[in-house]
Amino acid sequence: MSDFAQSVKQQADIVKVIEGYIRLRKAGAQNYSGLCPFHKEKSPSFSVHAVRQFYHCFGCGESGDVFSFVGKIEKVGFPEAVRIVAQKYGIPLPKREFSSPEEAAGARQRAKLLELHETATAWFEEQLRGPEGAVAREYLAGRGLSPEGIKAFRVGYSPDSFNGLRDRLSGMADNETLRASGLFSSKEQGDGSQGPIYDRFRKRVMFPIANESGRVIAFTARTLDTGEKAGPKYMNSPETPLYSKGQVLFNLDKAKAAIRKFEFALLVEGQMDCISVFLRGIQNVIATSGTAFTEQQVALLRRHTSQVVVNFDPDAAGANAAEKSIALLTEEGFTIKIVTLDDGLDPDRYIREKGVEAYTAALRGARRQSDYLIERARQMFPGASAEQKVKAMNYLLPHIRRMPQKLSRDQFAGDAAQKLGIDSAVLREELHQAALRRRDHVETRAATMSEVERVLLRALAITDPADEEARRLVIEAIAKQPAWFEHLGVFPALQALAGREARDPMEVVEDPAQRALLAEALLQETKVPEEGEVQSAIQEIQERSLENRQRDLRVGIAEAERRGDFAELALLTQQKLEMDRALRQLHQPRKPV
Ligand SMILES: [Zn+2]
Repeated sequence: MSDFAQSVKQQADIVKVIEGYIRLRKAGAQNYSGLCPFHKEKSPSFSVHAVRQFYHCFGCGESGDVFSFVGKIEKVGFPEAVRIVAQKYGIPLPKREFSSPEEAAGARQRAKLLELHETATAWFEEQLRGPEGAVAREYLAGRGLSPEGIKAFRVGYSPDSFNGLRDRLSGMADNETLRASGLFSSKEQGDGSQGPIYDRFRKRVMFPIANESGRVIAFTARTLDTGEKAGPKYMNSPETPLYSKGQVLFNLDKAKAAIRKFEFALLVEGQMDCISVFLRGIQNVIATSGTAFTEQQVALLRRHTSQVVVNFDPDAAGANAAEKSIALLTEEGFTIKIVTLDDGLDPDRYIREKGVEAYTAALRGARRQSDYLIERARQMFPGASAEQKVKAMNYLLPHIRRMPQKLSRDQFAGDAAQKLGIDSAVLREELHQAALRRRDHVETRAATMSEVERVLLRALAITDPADEEARRLVIEAIAKQPAWFEHLGVFPALQALAGREARDPMEVVEDPAQRALLAEALLQETKVPEEGEVQSAIQEIQERSLENRQRDLRVGIAEAERRGDFAELALLTQQKLEMDRALRQLHQPRKPV
C-alpha cells in the first residue's frame, strides 16, 4: 500500500464511510452491524469493527478494510477506491497511479463525462431562465413546480437548436468523448461511419438524473412539442459509461437520509411524481423512472431500508409495473405495502389537488401486499364460478410462494382462501402446499472455535506496541513447538499472523474461512488479552497436545503388546513415561499471575 493510501486509511473512519452506503447499528462496545450489501439476507450478519477498522460478513464471508469495501460496492479498483475515500475526507489527491492504461483511460473518461454533464446541467438551467425558456417555465408552472423546486432539482431547458449544447461543450472534450456522453446524436453516413454530432435533446424540459453521490449522470427530457415531429413524450439519456438505466434510483441521493430516518422508502413511478411529493415535504421518495424494478436497484435500496411503500399509477401499466416490483422486492425479503389513490389520480396530481395531509393519510392507509394482490385477483377474475376461483388462485400462488417467511405465507394463503371463498378441499390443499414450499436460505456460518483459540488469535492481532509482550509469547510458543498447535482449527490463521510483522491482521490471513474465524474472534473482543491470559492459553494448548499424544501412545502400546513387538513396546513405554512426567509438571499449581 502506498504512503498516500496509508495516510488516507489513517484519516478515514470505516464506520462513517460504510454508513454512507448502508444502515449500521451499534452492536457492541467496538462494533456495528447491518444487512450485508454483498449477499441477500434478512437479519444482519455484516459487522464493522470500529477500532480495528475492518468489516466482515458472517453470512457470505466478505471482509476487508475501508478500501476493499468501497472498491467492491462501487465496482472500482484499488486506486479508484483510495481516491473515493480521500475525496470523502477532502484529502488532496497526488498524481494518479493506475494498475493499467485501460483503467487510467476509463477513469479519465468518466471524470470528463461527469464534467460535461455538470456543464450541460448548468447550461440547461441557464436556458430555462433565458427568453427561449419561457415556454418551459410556463409548462413547469402549470405542473405546480415552484422556482425553488426547479432550483433544487436543477430542472432546465434544451432549446430548439441542433448545436446550442454542442457549441457550449465542444471546447471541453474530444469528439469521441462527446459522443460517449449520450448528450448528442449523429446520423450514419453512406460509408457506414458516423456523421457529425448534433444536440440529442431539443425543445425539451430537462430533468437531471443524479447518482447516489448527487452528481448528474444523465437526463430525462420531456418534450414541449406537439404533433408528429415531437418524438416520444419522455426521452432518456442512452446507456453510457456513467449511466445504466436499471442501476439508478431517481432521487436516492436526496432521499436516503429520510429513508433511513423513517425506515421506509416511498416508491413512485415517474420523476414528476417524485419531485412533486418530495417538494411537499415527503422526502423519503424515490422513482423507478417508469420501469419495473431491477435487481441492481433492489440492491441499492437494501442498503438503506427493507421496507417499501409502493404508489404506482392506478392504470393497467402502473398496476403491472407495481406487480413486477412487488414480486422482486418480496423475493429479496422486503416488507411491502401498496397505496392506491382515489379517483385514479397519480401521486403528483393527488398531492396537488388534495394536499399533503390527504396524501399522508393515504400513505398511512397503505394495504399489505397480500390484501392488495387478493383484491387484484378478484378484480381480474370476478364472479363466484369454480373456474374463476382457480384462475384467481393460480394468479396468487406464485406470490405466496415467494414470501420468505412461513408465517406470512400461511397468513396469505389463509386470507386468500377466505376472501376468494374457496371451500374446495383440493384448492385449499394447493394453497397449503404453497405456504409450505419455499427455497431455504442456508447461510454459511463460520466454524466454531474454542475460547483458547480466540485468545491466541487476539494476541497475535495485537497492534499496540505497549501490549507486544503477549503477542511475542504466542509467536515464540508456536516457533518452539509447532506440533502443539497443529491440530487447532485456526492453525493456518495463527501461522499467517505469527509472520505478519507490521502488516494489518485482516490482510495477512488470506483464506476466507480462516479470516472469518479471525473476524469472529476480533468482533467479540472486549479487551486486548493480557500476558497471564495468554500464558494460560498456551499452557492449555500444551496440555491438550500432550493428552492427545498420551492417548496415541496408549493405543500404540496396546497394539505393540498384541503383536509381541517388544522393541516398539519399550520405546513407546519410555515415551509415555516422559509424557506423564511432563503432564504432572504442568498440572502442578500455577504461579499466581
Ligand atoms: Zn454478506
